[in-house]
Amino acid sequence: MPILVQKFGGTSVADSNKILAAARKAILARKEGYQVVVVVSAMGKNTDKLVSLARRIHESPPAREMDMLLSTGEQVSVALMAMAIDSLGQEAISMTGAQIGIVTDSTHTKARIQSIATDRIHRALDAGKIVIAAGFQGVDRGFNITTLGRGGSDTTAVALAAALGAEACEIYTDVDGIYTTDPRLLPEARRVRQISYDEMLELASAGAGVMHNRSIEFAKRFSVPVHVRGSFTDNPGTIITAEPESASQPVCGVAVVRHEARVSVLGVPDRPGAAMTLFSKVAARNIAMDMIVQNVGDGGLANISFTVFREDLPAVLTAVEQAVEELDAQTFNYDDDVSVISVVGLGMATQPGVANRMFRALAESEINILMITTSPIKISVLVARESVAAALAALHAAFSLETEPPEESVPGPVGRAPTNGRSAAAMIARLQGMEDLIIEGITLDESEARVTILGVPDTPGLAAEVFEEIGAGGIVVDMIVQGFSGHERADLSFTLPKEDYGRGLDLTARLAERFHCPEPLGCSQVALLSVSGIGMRSHTEVASRMFQSLTAQDINVEMINTSEMCVTAVVDGHQGVKALDALRREFGDVMV
Ligand code: ASP
Ligand code: MG
Repeated sequence: MPILVQKFGGTSVADSNKILAAARKAILARKEGYQVVVVVSAMGKNTDKLVSLARRIHESPPAREMDMLLSTGEQVSVALMAMAIDSLGQEAISMTGAQIGIVTDSTHTKARIQSIATDRIHRALDAGKIVIAAGFQGVDRGFNITTLGRGGSDTTAVALAAALGAEACEIYTDVDGIYTTDPRLLPEARRVRQISYDEMLELASAGAGVMHNRSIEFAKRFSVPVHVRGSFTDNPGTIITAEPESASQPVCGVAVVRHEARVSVLGVPDRPGAAMTLFSKVAARNIAMDMIVQNVGDGGLANISFTVFREDLPAVLTAVEQAVEELDAQTFNYDDDVSVISVVGLGMATQPGVANRMFRALAESEINILMITTSPIKISVLVARESVAAALAALHAAFSLETEPPEESVPGPVGRAPTNGRSAAAMIARLQGMEDLIIEGITLDESEARVTILGVPDTPGLAAEVFEEIGAGGIVVDMIVQGFSGHERADLSFTLPKEDYGRGLDLTARLAERFHCPEPLGCSQVALLSVSGIGMRSHTEVASRMFQSLTAQDINVEMINTSEMCVTAVVDGHQGVKALDALRREFGDVMV
């Protein structure tokens, strides 16, 4: 009998009626011929209430005791859900994380799953029972209760679906699927029928908060089809799988992080390790950086800009002050009234012109772009917070996201996904270290060159003008970064095929003259080093290990971009092979 995992979030089990409604969905699936595992979160806002209760007793409660406390929320839900199913005449059994055998590491409050035992669940299922599993919790090897981090029930559900070889994992929540953008911010937002894992990962990290990011990494790693559905509707919801909704649409969604802050360190002596010093000071405070741009200017001085969540700014500034002192940089500044907007889509990796369309749409709405970063399937821009609504509307319209692509272009089925014939043995072999970092590839690309213009005027329409002219010259640009370089000035760098370098530099020189900027700089051959895999962002150390190992070889990182599945560093073309060796040594142990 095929297995189906159904997960109900806090709002879907917030009261007794909702629990009964969820129980009916589980029973319905059972009657349709599935063995059913139900994963539940704590009721309503119970986890928040437990957190604040703990804080009233202790300023920073011991993490082990916090987990002991927080795990009770889910224990309440599983018991009530089992009772609800029983009251509706179906057999059920509730289990805690420990009873199932969800073994994690010992990082209390943000533990990672190491393995899941499935025999007990299988026995209960074979006996005809619906199994109710507590989300968000596990147990370490010393039998201490652990939790997986806020929102972790999604991860439990997808991990169980993977371990059990389930046909799909259904996530029931208070929204009825994945939207092209947040419908609260833009009423034209459209629910998509299907979205790929990679797109979902990028959207989630760029602010679309429907699912726990680690759960999508899991789903991708073990090819679990995830079906996001509304608890209170019968809408078909959204399937998250390997394929995108449409092969012809370059963009699947626009995500916003409203409250960001930009920090720029200016006039940094450009030597290997300078950026590393800065980033490691920020990372040491456990703060994730979002957009990162480094541009090397004239006279060997670099400008480094990055963004963080606004709430992290005070801690970041102390780290930056130290770094400025240590590096003997000229100065730093920040802007805490900014937002990041990202367009995401698998299609942009193969269809050129997406960046230009994005820049043009923003220019036409008179929106100034403060920073730009790109990765293979995402382009992010930083804008003033007051222009978020206008920017979102402009981008949503520019990529026709309100229009549903034709049904026939949907590769996968809508509704319950098909069984993906994974062999049990192969699954179990992969279950050891379920959440370990996996590096799938380290590659060196020596086919590109780099061009940089420094001090371009930071005004609306600038990026559109630059990249349209370059595009009109028949040049297909790959990476683009724009960083802050001082009052109303920006630095712009991009990579392009090295055959086009001469022409690209000429075109850029003309643009530089028009903008009264110094002669553009360039490098006729750069080396792009990419480290790709699964868990690249939730394992935040990847980018810093990359920097560290390159720095140790005296290799300077000229540009960098980070995404959910890969981190790419651009270095001088002569150092490509040496850099590749360094990275292979650094990550050799986690390569698959
Ligand atoms: N109850 C936990 C939380 O509120 C886990 C979850 O809901 O996924 O974070
Ligand atoms: Mg981003």
